[in-house]
Amino acid sequence: MAETEAREAEAGAEPGVDDETLERRRRALGEVRQFGDPVLKSKASPVTDFGPELRAAAERMHTLMENALGIGLAATQLGLMRRLLVFQSTLDAEPRAIVNPRVEWASGELATAEEGCLSLADILVDVERPLHARVSAVDLGGTPLTIEASGLEARVLQHEIDHLDGILILDRTERRQRRAALRALREGERFEPAMLEGDGEPEPGSE
Ligand code: ZN
Repeated sequence: MAETEAREAEAGAEPGVDDETLERRRRALGEVRQFGDPVLKSKASPVTDFGPELRAAAERMHTLMENALGIGLAATQLGLMRRLLVFQSTLDAEPRAIVNPRVEWASGELATAEEGCLSLADILVDVERPLHARVSAVDLGGTPLTIEASGLEARVLQHEIDHLDGILILDRTERRQRRAALRALREGERFEPAMLEGDGEPEPGSE
């Protein structure tokens, strides 16, 4: 997967955006639970009430995703422990909300790409996932739907469904990257896989 595409996996690219957009992004991220918050490790419950609150939550999530320049957001990232997510297959695509999603089938063919997360600011790690996935869910009105997704769309959906199960990209990446990313998070620094490349030595400061 192209790097630009991969960098958009949830956290959005860092395009040459104006100050107003950056400020809006900063405020949106302020509403997204960040790494260390226990809700991010918790499993969400199925949605059973398809009333106006569900629609309102989805609308709030759409706005936050858009303002944060993301392409996916799970309800758990707002501390809402319900199986609801919003996503778009690219930054320009129409955003969608799906409820009680389940990966019904995933391809044996895997792909590795860098992923970011709105709950892990400034962190990118390599994540290997099935390249194709079939997701079953219902819409905001409770009507069943199926999504046959490939590439970035399949990746985003799997990333968001992971959130609903309390799983983060750090749980899905290789050990070296996880350790380096955790150190960067502790120290408030950024991390991306290229920072480890070509470095066959143990990482400085480990052990
Ligand atoms: Zn995420």
